[in-house]
Amino acid sequence: AEALEADVVVVGAGPAGLMAARTLQAAGQSVIVLEARDRVGGRTWSKEIDGAFLEIGGQWVSPDQTELLGLLEELGMGTFSRYREGANIYLDREGERHEYTGDMFPAHERTVAEMERIIGILDELAASIGPAEPWAHPKARELDTVTFNEWLREQTEDAAARENIAIFLAGGMLTKPDHAFSALQAVLMAASAGSFSNLVDEDFILDRRVIGGMQSVSETIASRLHEGSVHLETPVRTISWNDDGGATVFSDRVTVRAQQVILAVPPNLYSRISFEPALPRLQHQMHQHQSMGLVIKVHAVYATPFWRDKGLSGTGFGPNEICQEVYDNTNHEDTRGTLVAFISDEKADEMFALPEQDRREAIVRSLAAYLGEEALTPEVYYESDFGSEEWTRGAYAASFDLGGLSRYGAHQRRAVGPLHWACSDLAAEGYQHVDGALRQGRRAAQDIVHRLAE
Ligand code: FAD
Repeated sequence: AEALEADVVVVGAGPAGLMAARTLQAAGQSVIVLEARDRVGGRTWSKEIDGAFLEIGGQWVSPDQTELLGLLEELGMGTFSRYREGANIYLDREGERHEYTGDMFPAHERTVAEMERIIGILDELAASIGPAEPWAHPKARELDTVTFNEWLREQTEDAAARENIAIFLAGGMLTKPDHAFSALQAVLMAASAGSFSNLVDEDFILDRRVIGGMQSVSETIASRLHEGSVHLETPVRTISWNDDGGATVFSDRVTVRAQQVILAVPPNLYSRISFEPALPRLQHQMHQHQSMGLVIKVHAVYATPFWRDKGLSGTGFGPNEICQEVYDNTNHEDTRGTLVAFISDEKADEMFALPEQDRREAIVRSLAAYLGEEALTPEVYYESDFGSEEWTRGAYAASFDLGGLSRYGAHQRRAVGPLHWACSDLAAEGYQHVDGALRQGRRAAQDIVHRLAE
């Protein structure tokens, strides 16, 4: 292997790692980025599939994501708004189809009142607990030792209200069943987006997309780093480190000696790397309590956005449907119409258990239940499957199991000797999103600049 030297090695060329490299180079540090894949961008990835441009990974930008919005401006990159005119569709528990406009599902009056009451409680919890240190709040342990499902049962006897609330946090965000994460984890998710109301409001949370695709943000950052900074197809296998500074990072192609290392990979992948000496007990334990959710992102491209002619926005929700969420995902200035739909956690397991053709049929039938028979015959059809990607292993991001956030949260961003941690999975604001990845990349870089200046 080629032997190199740098002030800092960054492991992973996703948004977090590249933002860290950008920040460090701007501060005059020499940086080498080692990336396992043959491309940059990590969980953001655009690809041409059967002639259609698809964003296979992360894509949406919301107004609170000021780190990402600021970067887009700096890089001179534009955004466009998601199509949202016309009526939305809600498929209720009985599978009955309702057209509606405005934020609230057209559920029974009692259910809507219950939902509004619980949203109020979640908004208050998110505001008082905040995204930065949810573990430090007096209620942290209490909320972290009860599942979100149990917490919702304590709030209301209205099953439809519980399901309609859960869809946003469980299937919609953490992509785990609501019995698999705590109420505190749910509050962090809400607080990281500003409030629970923001998460429920798809016009807010799924507001805009990047012209050219979200992966191009990473490609643009990478292209502006010093030449030769980013090494592709170089999975890092071993890091030998000293508690009082210095590390040697071994990858398949290069070996880099550096003063500091940033691990810009999701926490479920830390154990893919051999650390010499082994990491401390606390990290060994903590890292086993953070796991990826699972979601299939379905793309269906049609000759035209046929739903618009029927006065439909393309937005649909159905807590008991195969596709829990559907949106118009037509590309900027594209004449074809694209739908995107999401299938989460146990429903994704069910779908993956089917042969490919049966799965596709079941999924387009679900799309048709929302938007009509035309949905049955897309010109291009594709399922994003990050669960099968060796260097991700799930989607969208990682979260703690029951009790993990209050037990370990305070330690997750703390450096261990020269080893620093940065990814969207550890974020406060922008948790699980590209915005949070950028914030953590910048934060880790600034910690190092600080340290090297001492
Ligand atoms: P990653 O993007 O995962 O980057 C980590 C990098 O490290 C990868 O390139 C990986 O190959 C590399 N790596 C791992 N192990 C090693 C190793 N041993 N050696 C070298 N390299 C290694 N976010 C939004 O903001 N909006 C959305 O609409 C949105 N939708 C999403 C939809 C899907 C289907 C998915 C999967 C994610 C979505 N996200 C969305 C989340 C967003 O994409 C992630 O939060 C973000 O990409 C995380 O960035 P990161 O740099 O922290 O990690």
